[in-house]
Amino acid sequence: MMSDKIEIIGLSKKELEDILSQMGEKKFRAKQIWQWLYFRGVQNFDEMTNLSKDLRATLKNHFILNRPKIIAEQISKDKTHKWLLEFSDGERVETVYIPEADRGAVCISTQVGCAMGCKFCHTGTQTLTRNLTAGEIVSQFMVARDSYHEWPSPTDETRYLSNIVIMGMGEPLQNKENVIKALNILSDGDGIAISRRRITMSTCGIVPEINDVLEKTGVRLAISLHAPNNTIRNTLMPINKVYSIEKILEACQKYQSKDGSRYVTFEYLMLDKINDSVQQAQELVSLLKKYKIRATFNLIPFNPWEGSAFKPSTHEAIKSFANILQKAGFACPVRVARGQDISAACGQLKSKTIS
Ligand code: SAH
Ligand code: SF4
Repeated sequence: MMSDKIEIIGLSKKELEDILSQMGEKKFRAKQIWQWLYFRGVQNFDEMTNLSKDLRATLKNHFILNRPKIIAEQISKDKTHKWLLEFSDGERVETVYIPEADRGAVCISTQVGCAMGCKFCHTGTQTLTRNLTAGEIVSQFMVARDSYHEWPSPTDETRYLSNIVIMGMGEPLQNKENVIKALNILSDGDGIAISRRRITMSTCGIVPEINDVLEKTGVRLAISLHAPNNTIRNTLMPINKVYSIEKILEACQKYQSKDGSRYVTFEYLMLDKINDSVQQAQELVSLLKKYKIRATFNLIPFNPWEGSAFKPSTHEAIKSFANILQKAGFACPVRVARGQDISAACGQLKSKTIS
């Protein structure tokens, strides 16, 4: 028999309140339950000890409270931690935790596979199987927090899991409604409470959706740019034929026009002899100056995968490229590839394997 129970993780606060009020419960009950779920991280209704036994029984009849199943888990030499998670229909995604000295980011997936087909991306070689629900997006973070025993949500800044990057598998703006809902749950102050300023969403540039999501969630924007002009970007990222670099930069201008303190992070993959020359760095600088974009760069060393057609840029090429951007006034850390030995680095995620 099909269960008609509802997954409780992933309901918005309003949805939870509405369902409880239909059940004849007072509004403050929704807040109490919310705190058990997202502040304390309990995995069982019986632990919600300030609710009556009757209410707990009713909740069990109405709702499912489950984490995704951990199918495999690996920790790399540099302490990067990767989980292969399975949802109730058997679909799988990977979630990664990347620790720094005194903090760390959880890298979350938004789709099983991806339809964008970027040529350098391992995830892009899979087709899109399905979107993740808001609950499936949020619960990836909850699994990570379970692992580090960081419940209840820390109230000071000394937390191990301090940041979230939407940079796992999938294109978040192709799953807009669920991503908005998930981001608003993750940043809710009564629960998981990761500040909006510490959440970054990365997109390949689905232009019409960019500003809508940012306005509705307040998170930070990262764009996977990877090229200084449309000729090169077209060959790397098919989506560029629909939304060109100029259209992306106009969307960034619009985002920054609302608040002078907003920066955009541009991710730029360093591909040997494709997009990594000094001239191309200069071309990039003129482009951003023309559009007056306040930006930080993330130069990403290309992580090769079996069958990929590209080679990583040389160390010298990366240094010269970074130099030009820095001289032009753009902060430009070179991202160190993390977790490569367990295939947890950017663009290496796949749902079918974990080797
Ligand atoms: N779909 C979104 C978010 C997920 S991809 C996006 O494209 O932005 C996260 C980042 O990993 C993107 O910047 C992507 O371009 C980068 N990436 C993809 N393949 C990579 C690879 N092989 N090596 C390093 N980074 C890669
Ligand atoms: Fe999809 Fe992002 Fe990979 Fe492109 S880089 S295929 S948009 S996950």
